[in-house]
Amino acid sequence: MKCSEGISKFILDLSEKYPSQTEFIQAVEEVVRSVYPIVKENSIYRKHKILERLVEPDRSVSFRVDWTDDKGQVRTNRGYRVQFNNALGPYKGGLRFHPTVNLGILKFLGFEQIFKNSLTGQSLGGAKGGSDFNPMGKSDLEVMRFCNSFMEKLHREIGPDRDTPAGDIGVGLREIGYLFGSFRRYENDLFLPSAITGKGPDWGGSLLRPEATGYGLILFLEEMLKVVNHSLSGKRVCISGSGNVAQYAAEMAIESGAKVLTMSDSSGFIFDKNGLSKDKLKFIMLLKNEQRGRIKQFADEFDGVEYLTGSSDDSRRPWRYVKCDIALPCATQNEINEDDAGALVENGVMAVAEGANMPSTKEAIRVFKSAGVLFGPAKAANAGGVAVSGFEMSQDKSGVRWTRAEVLAKLRDTMLEIHKRCTEFGTRSGCIDYVEGSNIAGFKRVADAMVAQGL
Ligand code: NDP
Repeated sequence: MKCSEGISKFILDLSEKYPSQTEFIQAVEEVVRSVYPIVKENSIYRKHKILERLVEPDRSVSFRVDWTDDKGQVRTNRGYRVQFNNALGPYKGGLRFHPTVNLGILKFLGFEQIFKNSLTGQSLGGAKGGSDFNPMGKSDLEVMRFCNSFMEKLHREIGPDRDTPAGDIGVGLREIGYLFGSFRRYENDLFLPSAITGKGPDWGGSLLRPEATGYGLILFLEEMLKVVNHSLSGKRVCISGSGNVAQYAAEMAIESGAKVLTMSDSSGFIFDKNGLSKDKLKFIMLLKNEQRGRIKQFADEFDGVEYLTGSSDDSRRPWRYVKCDIALPCATQNEINEDDAGALVENGVMAVAEGANMPSTKEAIRVFKSAGVLFGPAKAANAGGVAVSGFEMSQDKSGVRWTRAEVLAKLRDTMLEIHKRCTEFGTRSGCIDYVEGSNIAGFKRVADAMVAQGL
């Protein structure tokens, strides 16, 4: 059977088994397209049925979460943890609280996490979890009660050498604090800091963890640009999202001399034609992290800033409306479709680096590749977050705290190493295909570990 036929059959079989899990199938297809020729050539991988086993999570748990709102009404949500693969180390991956969360979304995120964690070079397996709970508009006490009930169910599944969750969409420092506090209480008051990462620096967290994903993204992007003799200085950058990843990507991009033109939330985006200053970015951080406000309030506060919104998802994102050299999608999955990609290319974009997980559809990636746009896929470009989470676990276990400069140096080394591995496995006719490179490099470590450990 030809490779292309084998890939199509593999994907068709999986789609028939999980017809409603479209994002999961999308994530698997991208990886399988890259690694199938390697599996076909390697009889050991075939004998051990590595691909077939990799696409089935080791374990998925799903549970009911009951909590009470401020009016004393009982509310119910669904909670999940998908422990995908632990061939390289304990399960590791974030928790997402968002109304769109379901098993298929978490399987896509958990599957991606396996290869991302492998790329960091650390001993971390892949997992993801979360709930369809929406923190937006909830009071602190409601969020705390929800986190407590969520952890009442989750604590049995996790632990320092077993599974270590972190944050993701809707789970920031506030939620991690409540989740960690609940975990301690359910574990008989044991203080087990390496059971959760993203903690505050005074209670077991690592310096630079909040910044890690956004900073890592920019460090990776700078390496991509260096290969083609460019730098960030003077480049016009469009960012989507205004949460954790977007904020720190913007901060480091501004420090590197780029002009950050846009940020967004799910209601719309702001366009500052002069480029965000550090002080303006501070306003956004306060607005989003403390006041839990909307990005529109930024445009209300500053002259010369436009706020754009509309009834469709497309009209709430900057891609078709603002010309840029570099696009950094940092909000959510499939937020750049084929038409968005076409508009970005027409407007002269030279590089796209993914801060969010799987923000570009497969059609969008095809448009970028065929136009010769530098394309940094999520599992490589946003791996800085989990890398520093791994550093947080090491510090918690050893009791040694690293300075900010030490963590930054290690983060930089990790992102450079990931870039090197993408180059090693993805160079084709003198150009680097980062999708191929990251998929193959990430896959090989996991596949070899699975073979070595047998059934
Ligand atoms: P946050 O919750 O801090 O911020 C998410 C941002 O994206 C918000 O501005 C939010 O707007 C916007 N957003 C979320 N969903 C949608 C949607 N459906 N449509 C439009 N906008 C949306 O999350 P993070 O910054 O932590 O995560 C962003 C992305 O980065 C996710 O894909 C996540 O998986 C990925 N990631 C995060 C890592 C981390 O360390 N935090 C590590 C690696 C990847 P609103 O407030 O209106 O919902």
